[in-house]
Amino acid sequence: MAKIFCIANQKGGVGKTTTTVNLAAGLAQIGQRVLVVDLDPQGNATMGSGIDKRKLELTVYDVLLESASIAEARVKADKAGYDVLGANRELAGAEVDLVALERRERRIKTAIAEVTADYDFILIDCPPSLSMLTLNGLCSAHGVIVPMQCEYFALEGLTDLVNTIKQIHANLNPDLEIIGLLRVMFDPRITLQQQVSDQLKAHFGNKVFDTVIPRNVRLAEAPSYGLPGVVFDPSSKGAQAFVEFAKEMVRRIETMR
Ligand code: ADP
Ligand code: MG
Repeated sequence: MAKIFCIANQKGGVGKTTTTVNLAAGLAQIGQRVLVVDLDPQGNATMGSGIDKRKLELTVYDVLLESASIAEARVKADKAGYDVLGANRELAGAEVDLVALERRERRIKTAIAEVTADYDFILIDCPPSLSMLTLNGLCSAHGVIVPMQCEYFALEGLTDLVNTIKQIHANLNPDLEIIGLLRVMFDPRITLQQQVSDQLKAHFGNKVFDTVIPRNVRLAEAPSYGLPGVVFDPSSKGAQAFVEFAKEMVRRIETMR
């Protein structure tokens, strides 16, 4: 049965999508069966996995509205090595469409339940908000992976996210916990980043992943080739860090079982 993780942070541009596609590719490389669910109308995880979002016949939007199952809507990202439930701009309308529907925060959870036997990991790339889409992700997951840059304001935003997760844990999804904070785009030469990193460890202890993802231009270049960095340039520092992170995640889920 798959372990299901949301990659969430209500800030934009913090590395959620980069983490989703590269963790997925890293896990695939070490033999794990992975599904990426793109819950962001921008469709970056879809495109970054080599799937043209404009050509998709079925997307996560159809799954949310229950007009398709995940088995029908998923596609294979061959080069990346995992399956994708894609998203495109159509998904932006879901927020409004869902308001009138029953079980509106549990639509993805219900759909995922049908495919958990097909995967070891299901990774959900969330939009930069605490919206109904993110809520659907958080209601489906066993845990949240929070990518963050070690900057001063990162800590401030974290409080909101931690509170949201606590509320969802209490009211909607008792399984939900923060699996860990992932330090991304890290530059050890910047003193402030070291300081924030130390504060994170002091405050969150073992909730901070051991693996640190460095700032690495190859990770930023990879999406324009429709590939995760892990596949695009396996020898790059960024790719190697994500493969390490995949191994760390496999170790973590051993202790969760
Ligand atoms: P989000 O999904 O949170 O909005 P992205 O993953 O799209 O964030 O990342 C934002 C930008 O930063 C993208 O242009 C991405 O290529 C770049 N980026 C992400 N992680 C790294 C990294 N470790 N090193 C260099 N650039 C990165
Ligand atoms: Mg994104």
